[in-house]
Amino acid sequence: MKCLVTVKQVVDPYINIRINSDHTAVETANIKMAMNPFDEIAMEEAMRQKEAGIISSITAVSIGPISVQETLRQALARGADEAIHVVTSQTLTPLNIAKVLAVLVKQQQTQLVLLGKQAIDDDCNQTGQMLAALLGWAQGTFCSSVKIDVANQGITVARETDYGLETLQLRLPTVITTDLRLNEPRYISLPNVMQAKRKPISSINLDSIISELRTEIKTLKVEAPPQRKAGIMVQSVNELLHKLQHEAQVI
Ligand code: AMP
Repeated sequence: MKCLVTVKQVVDPYINIRINSDHTAVETANIKMAMNPFDEIAMEEAMRQKEAGIISSITAVSIGPISVQETLRQALARGADEAIHVVTSQTLTPLNIAKVLAVLVKQQQTQLVLLGKQAIDDDCNQTGQMLAALLGWAQGTFCSSVKIDVANQGITVARETDYGLETLQLRLPTVITTDLRLNEPRYISLPNVMQAKRKPISSINLDSIISELRTEIKTLKVEAPPQRKAGIMVQSVNELLHKLQHEAQVI
């Protein structure tokens, strides 16, 4: 069974972000970028399923400018067999990303797609769900456990929900989105990084996949959250209670 894993390049989660000068997005020029953390988890899951003999090959896909090839190299170092770069300088909405992925899934004859539950830059949490709808496939979202039974063409997943763990039985082909607790991605060794340099990345222009893009959402403004005021030290519980009552007026 072939598996496709989507890997988005995002601003490194460990650096401070700032808004660009025209207030339309987060600044990405000369900023350290990284693979979306939930996509690292998706890659790790694909690797574990491959090591268990369930998945035969892993194709990593990223959509974006030339710089996303760095993220694809990381996916190859994490164990992907090949990578596809869909080249575009435009910022696409989740629906457009899902449309592109749907075309690739059909071309690749994949039966399983693993995506992160959300990209930490736009926090949309939509692409996996939209992809499953476009393909007419089953979907397991926010998965913290994935058990594939190839003989019965089924997958059992546990979903992390606000009211507890939900266990679902899904029929293949399936779209899975990964939760934080699904696994802990392994460390990438230097030999893996070196090997990844020899693995193939094929580039496809966005226009050759989708001739006309509909932009259904327009970003009007992006603003940084208000600066938090510095805290103060109080000398006693009584002073704290007094301040909460008379200054903050919360009790
Ligand atoms: P979102 O719906 O934007 O929160 O993204 C959910 C998931 O969709 C991400 O974790 C990625 O796996 C995938 N995805 C979104 N945008 C891209 C992209 N430009 N390239 C590759 N994968 C993407």
